[in-house]
Amino acid sequence: MTTTNPQTTPRRKAINRQAVRARTAKTPPQAPTLASMASQPGVDSCDICEDNMPGYVIGDLNPPDQSWLLGHTAKCNYCRNVLTGFERVDDLLERFGQSNSLPMPPLPPKLFKRSAAYTMIDSPVGPLYVAVSEKGVVDITFGQGLSENLFRETLQARGFKPIQDQKAASFVTRQLNEYFAGHRNDFDVPIDLSGVTPFTKSVLTATAHVPYGQVRSYQDIARTIGQPSATRAVGNSLNRNPIPVIIPCHRIVRSDHSLGGYGGGSDKKQILLKLEGASLL
Ligand SMILES: [Zn+2]
Repeated sequence: MTTTNPQTTPRRKAINRQAVRARTAKTPPQAPTLASMASQPGVDSCDICEDNMPGYVIGDLNPPDQSWLLGHTAKCNYCRNVLTGFERVDDLLERFGQSNSLPMPPLPPKLFKRSAAYTMIDSPVGPLYVAVSEKGVVDITFGQGLSENLFRETLQARGFKPIQDQKAASFVTRQLNEYFAGHRNDFDVPIDLSGVTPFTKSVLTATAHVPYGQVRSYQDIARTIGQPSATRAVGNSLNRNPIPVIIPCHRIVRSDHSLGGYGGGSDKKQILLKLEGASLL
């Protein structure tokens, strides 16, 4: 039977610590690569790609990250479009930097090509901004405490030129009013999900199929889109739903039937579920 000699134990530990230190000195801890971040379960690779585009454009990415970003962009239409916008802006800034005496050139027409007509309605969940493009409903935003200017800025940030036009949006506001009065169970309007990542689009499409008055869990949606481990990414996508109420993200709750989050605040989620007579517990 061996016994530990109390005098040698501390020294052996000290030596081991040194060995560990020497090993870590040779290979310093590395930041995770974009490829490894994008392959984590529950991560939307387009989010990783988009977040790193500014770094790519200013030449700040290391070669493996750069080639991952370019590889993803080559396969993904959504990210290719976003990156084209970034590169165009970068090009403008560069030209501007070269000659400060020249006036700033106008923004390329593509960045503000499409207009969005918007109006505001009252509802049981407070004022709602409703915007439509030439393709369909493009935005519904809870207006409580949000100035019209800020709302216009969110449309501009999505590449739209905002135009106040109650009549243009009336085909949607009529149906919304019927829904809030309890006279309509589903919406029959075209929707425009441009500017939404393919992953989020698949989440929103699955959510749009959840019937009136029923609830599903984040996990149900993750399974429906064939990515059962992506529950968290599903939650993030629903939080960024540009067309709440019509795309009924309020019908997606936690697996234990507790409410879960809601972009507009959970009080509004509760009001909408109650309006539809959905029973949670
Ligand atoms: Zn992408």
